[in-house]
Amino acid sequence: MNVAERREALETIAAEVRTCTRCRLHEGRTTAVPGEGDPDTEVVFVGEGPGYNEDQQGRPFVGRAGDLLVRLLATIGWRRQDVFITNIVKCRPPDNRDPEPDEIAACEPYLRRQLAVLEPALVVTLGRHSLARFMPGARISASHGSFRPAEAGAGADDALVYALYHPAAALRSTEVERQSLDDVAGVPAALLEARRRRSEATVDPGALDERSATAGPPGTDETEPALIGASVETGPEAAPQLGLF
Ligand code: URA
Ligand code: SF4
Repeated sequence: MNVAERREALETIAAEVRTCTRCRLHEGRTTAVPGEGDPDTEVVFVGEGPGYNEDQQGRPFVGRAGDLLVRLLATIGWRRQDVFITNIVKCRPPDNRDPEPDEIAACEPYLRRQLAVLEPALVVTLGRHSLARFMPGARISASHGSFRPAEAGAGADDALVYALYHPAAALRSTEVERQSLDDVAGVPAALLEARRRRSEATVDPGALDERSATAGPPGTDETEPALIGASVETGPEAAPQLGLF
């Protein structure tokens, strides 16, 4: 799919989400929140579900948790519009309660379709519910700041998954905030590793998807120096990857 086709496919999914009544969460919503971002990105951030501000505006991560997410991204030189940001459930749970398993299951096809369109190299999970989908059985306390291949069948088949705490948890605890700053610093190196795995999986380099053949992202040329700079700082194991780009 080229970028115009991706954009259109994502808009089709978003239109269905906005009128969806597949689970009880539609009853209390003001506006569904399908997700948004660069249709040509390599990186998808997956949160839990819309909160008050998101429900009002129909956009993900636009309240205080979103402000913190934007600040975390800025520390690695990324902007929210460089990535795609969405949630496990697209409608706000009443009083911001946790989504129920049947609600997560009802909403699952939308996330799956978004991932099928975007084909991300890297999925960044924000919090427990998102982690549970892509790293089932993993505990956030042990997994935050680390990555591994996405669970088979989770809809992001050859992606790596990087675990972060939910930004709302970081707002409640300065220790979690400090840890989140540390953790996000490892995201660019995970993207480099995700690209490396994908290019290895491709037998003929000429057959590389045009997105992974250009050093890109996530997305734009402007972010590339920051990406490479960040990976140099991240540690010796990241440095050899730079030769690829
Ligand atoms: N928290 C989430 O998990 N998602 C949002 O979109 C906003 C806050
Ligand atoms: Fe539909 Fe998902 Fe909203 Fe439930 S949460 S009504 S499944 S879009």
